[in-house]
Amino acid sequence: MLEGMGIETVEVRTPADMEGCDGLILPGGESTTQLQFLQEEGLAETIKQFAAEGHAVFGTCAGAILLATDVENPKQESLGLLDMTVLRNGYGRQIASDVFSAKSTLKDEPLEMVFIRGPVIERTGPGIEILAKHAGKPAIVQKGRLLATTFHPELTSDTTVHEYFLKLAAETDHNSGKTNGAKPKSGKAERSKRELTTAKSST
Ligand code: GLN
Repeated sequence: MLEGMGIETVEVRTPADMEGCDGLILPGGESTTQLQFLQEEGLAETIKQFAAEGHAVFGTCAGAILLATDVENPKQESLGLLDMTVLRNGYGRQIASDVFSAKSTLKDEPLEMVFIRGPVIERTGPGIEILAKHAGKPAIVQKGRLLATTFHPELTSDTTVHEYFLKLAAETDHNSGKTNGAKPKSGKAERSKRELTTAKSST
């Protein structure tokens, strides 16, 4: 989806791949496998550092699970960047994808949401904004430049959520003042528009 929007992307497999990136997307998939991969490659620490520097990080579905501080059903470690409790596979057994539309703060029209064995966000801590809900539970949450959806926005043709994330990523230079040598010191006009994902999105 990002490439279709004219954004340069790079697939991140090692900490070095993250250099020069303005944002990070943690895609859907199987969070247990993803977490193991991130820990083995040293990426878990790199991602925490990346977020601490004020960079934008967006977790979709399994990515949202990785961002949460508390993971249940079953209990699992995580990156612990967003203060919330998630219940894995919380919407019950969904053999095929289920598509819903719901209100969000991102646009006037309802937003299409594709859920695939998605997590339920059971609790959100202070400072977490809820941008959309599905079945009474938060479906898009944000804190600063950290964004998470319990559904897959990349599986529709609607770019609203990604555009929103790109805006967060573009703000990094202006406001955080926390970025260090990890980013190239290029001028605003030349600023890299690279986004990245840690693995190919799959379910
Ligand atoms: N059920 C998966 C998990 O718990 C997430 C599914 C997805 O990313 N679509 O890790």
